[in-house]
Amino acid sequence: MTKKIDKTDIGWNLENSYTSLPDKFYTTMEPNPVPSPKLDILNHSLASALGLNAEALESEDGVAVLAGNRIPEGGKPLAEAYAGHQFGYLTMLGDGRALLLGEQITPDGQRFDIQLKGSGRTVYSRGGDGRAALGPMLREYIISEAMHALGIPTTRSLAVAATGETIRREAGFLPGAVLTRIAASHLRVGTFQYAAGAGSIEDVQALADYTLQRHFPEIGLDDPDRYLKLFQEAASRQASLIAKWQLVGFIHGVMNTDNMAISGETIDYGPCAFMDVYHPKTVFSSIDAQGRYAYNNQPLIGGWNLARFVETLLPLLHDDQEEAVAIAQAQLKIYSDQFHENWHAGMRSKLGLFNKEAEDETLIDDLLELMQEHEADYTNTFAALTFGKLDGAEMFGTSGFIGWHDRWQERLSRQHQSKEEVQELMRNNNPAVIPRNHRVEAALEAAANGDFSVLERLLAVLADPFAHSPEQAEYAAPPDSESGSYRTFCGT
Ligand code: AMP
Ligand code: MG
Repeated sequence: MTKKIDKTDIGWNLENSYTSLPDKFYTTMEPNPVPSPKLDILNHSLASALGLNAEALESEDGVAVLAGNRIPEGGKPLAEAYAGHQFGYLTMLGDGRALLLGEQITPDGQRFDIQLKGSGRTVYSRGGDGRAALGPMLREYIISEAMHALGIPTTRSLAVAATGETIRREAGFLPGAVLTRIAASHLRVGTFQYAAGAGSIEDVQALADYTLQRHFPEIGLDDPDRYLKLFQEAASRQASLIAKWQLVGFIHGVMNTDNMAISGETIDYGPCAFMDVYHPKTVFSSIDAQGRYAYNNQPLIGGWNLARFVETLLPLLHDDQEEAVAIAQAQLKIYSDQFHENWHAGMRSKLGLFNKEAEDETLIDDLLELMQEHEADYTNTFAALTFGKLDGAEMFGTSGFIGWHDRWQERLSRQHQSKEEVQELMRNNNPAVIPRNHRVEAALEAAANGDFSVLERLLAVLADPFAHSPEQAEYAAPPDSESGSYRTFCGT
């Protein structure tokens, strides 16, 4: 008999596999209740993919869960312990303002963490208030959903509920909110660093085996090379993920090791932003004065973070320390090669190239150099090339670009695909829209004044970034003023 869903049945199907890890990996605790929860936004399609009933989530009982006032059926809330290198310095961290409610098993058998972010102080809060402000939580909602639509692995956003509480931030008193974040898991490089630093090799092994079962079940727990394979798979996912970031001009902003997920999803949307004008050194984060996490540093930092990860696994890679280090170094080189391979393949697709020729790297580099020199908009340059609409920007009229364009056309003529096939490839690899900073800010400002229509429209446009539809045209426009002055903040 099929189960009848009524309005009160949200559809929770929660398991708590994280509690199978040794006790030191988490602390069980409940969210701090909030005075007057109100649902500001709910992701209906995501709810349905998770096997959750959106209508029931919108009911008073549902909103109570999304605000942290009620524990969902089968949930065992806990804060995860982890450490992390923050701007290069190792610190003990942990979920200071988030709680894992449990893992939802979806109708098609997938497992996703259901996490509340902004649910109050935990044992890992240090000096923080455990809370989150509405603006940054809506911002995470917009950008994570845009990333998902762009085909980039990411944690997702199920809901944002206002708490009715006012919280204190540098900018003054702000409305509080709780974000419900969905993730393949919240296992981080920092979780392994915590295991290695605060635990024993048995703890690292327990964590590694848990991670293998959760994310790489094709590698058996009886495989003697399983820890090497765990690293290889995790590193290969990062090589793919970071290439995707680079290809769309996404700057994470705070690639600390605690913000790198072993699952290969983009996680922890803080001071992230998309680049308008192309410049390899672009930084938006106000706290990244040195540019450690600048656009062109992301692949390198990815490797640095993976080095911190593989260090925690060294005793499991080989009994001989020197041998283990040699294995790790070889793997890090593979990550770097894989990143370059992925990035070049992605760039070739952006330029409509189906096959690979030796000169392609120079062709790509020369275009980027011209874009930098002429301060061309990153997204719109590729969109213009896709449709052959080379009028809008100054760069297109320069002799440098015209020469480059001739070379590109000649290169295209050397492959057998038709013009239509080339355009199709380019359309699917060059988005019409990205969450431009000025659009995101406008949506957040309207939402702060109680008008969610601007945000809803933005989300609708971002949901299909490769549509290249007429409605998207206004959202493709770069900001009026110089976007280089746009700053993002960590005080979220
Ligand atoms: P993030 O910058 O979001 O990666 O967070 C770094 C660390 O600071 C994590 O351990 C967070 O849980 C913690 N944290 C961030 N904001 C707060 C807050 N308002 N209260 C307590 N802990 C926080
Ligand atoms: Mg973090």
